[in-house]
Amino acid sequence: MNTCNFCIKTTEKGKWMLTENKSWTVYLSDEQDYIGRCILILKRHCGCLSELTDNEWMDLKNLIVKLEQCFKSILGAELCNWSCLLNSFYKKPLPNPHLHLHVRPRYKKPFNLNGVEYIDEEFAHHYKLKKRNQVGEEELEKIFNILKKGLE
Ligand SMILES: [Zn+2]
Repeated sequence: MNTCNFCIKTTEKGKWMLTENKSWTVYLSDEQDYIGRCILILKRHCGCLSELTDNEWMDLKNLIVKLEQCFKSILGAELCNWSCLLNSFYKKPLPNPHLHLHVRPRYKKPFNLNGVEYIDEEFAHHYKLKKRNQVGEEELEKIFNILKKGLE
């Protein structure tokens, strides 16, 4: 069994952890291609959605409700794009995937942070792959604090 970075990450919690429940940990992604982008990591090592237990699904559902409410009411997002890809694990000869989901809030109107406007230019279309990070460390910290407070 090769070491799993995601297992380590959920154990260590870390600086960018926004919230958690029994089954999942939520981090603000350092890649803010879309403002508020987060990653939800299952606390247990498990490789695909079909192997989730009923309790893990319920915990995921509750988190989705909580996060979507927060993105909409606090950040002004119009909708959220959810994805469960796992592709990068399969670049290795012996894939050992750890289930996680990405969520990208999407914006119809510009998102304003301290007087700077961020525009979701692809709104109503598929999120752009390899879109550049929109914010620096300082803005990342601000977004983190806003979301952390909103999720309390
Ligand atoms: Zn793992």
